[in-house]
Amino acid sequence: MADITVIGSNMYELTTFVDRMPVEGETVEAPEFEMGFGGKGANQAIAAARLGSQVNFITMVGRDEFGRQQLENYRSNGIRADGIGIADGSSGVAPIFVDTSGDNRILIVKGANKQLTPAALDDKKDLIEGSKLVVLQQEIALETNYHAIELAEEYGVPVLLNPAPANDDLNIDYVSRVAFFAPNETELATLTGMPTGTLDEIKAAARNLVRRGVGNLIVTMGGKGALWVSADQELLVPAVTVEAVDTTGAGDAFIGSFAHYYTQGEDVPTALSHANRYAAISVTRRGTQKAYPTAAELNDLLLERVQA
Ligand code: ATP
Repeated sequence: MADITVIGSNMYELTTFVDRMPVEGETVEAPEFEMGFGGKGANQAIAAARLGSQVNFITMVGRDEFGRQQLENYRSNGIRADGIGIADGSSGVAPIFVDTSGDNRILIVKGANKQLTPAALDDKKDLIEGSKLVVLQQEIALETNYHAIELAEEYGVPVLLNPAPANDDLNIDYVSRVAFFAPNETELATLTGMPTGTLDEIKAAARNLVRRGVGNLIVTMGGKGALWVSADQELLVPAVTVEAVDTTGAGDAFIGSFAHYYTQGEDVPTALSHANRYAAISVTRRGTQKAYPTAAELNDLLLERVQA
């Protein structure tokens, strides 16, 4: 039985660093290329597994070389294979182009992720039973997430929904059924239609959702940290001050590590403060999953800080 069941996407990232983008019909030489594992579901599953959680990951990879490498990545990070389906056709891939100022242009080919339908989830639903938390994001069909929320309710398992990327069509009735709703500032604004430019505005938007039934609102606010709002609590957990070099995947590091600490029995404030620290470390390193420390690495890093 797993501690955490993550249901969601996986992507194979193909990153080209360019001096400039080619115009139509032109070929230009680019200085650097990197491949890496990504996808919000996969990132969150990997963060929790690296910290030592038993993780089930319900996802779909393609019957291709990228899918084979994804399977090996999950195996080597200790994620159980039972939840991973293999679909005909291509895996999810993300060709990414990063220019010299660090700005990026990203294409998403969902590939096998599109086949994670409610029916495909039903084939794996037994894996949810006995988990302490189901973790969802929005890179798969909303209908599949809605079905996941229904199944989790059947099994009595709380749900954490990270509504990323933002989707206007997200049904508030389902949002009100989750234990943890964890948007960033932009996603919170999209769902509530309320401004989230200042801390007071974020609090008001979060309160609005709590009034509509969400148990706990956790708003990630980048370098400003995270805010927790529930019916009777409000807590700002300031970010750990670090020199950020690459914030890609910080949100996933935060969600995956929060899921780990919470299901290990920490209370919400402690789990949030540990997740803040884990995500802060991830922004000091380049890459997405590559930047996520294991429990052993984390201990070494914390020890270095104490000794410094
Ligand atoms: P992404 O989509 O890039 O993964 P996000 O918008 O979902 O990110 P953020 O709110 O930017 O997520 O960041 C998530 C968490 O990561 C923050 O709540 C904070 O704990 C940590 N974090 C992000 N940026 C910084 C930073 N510059 N310094 C310290 N911690 C950071």
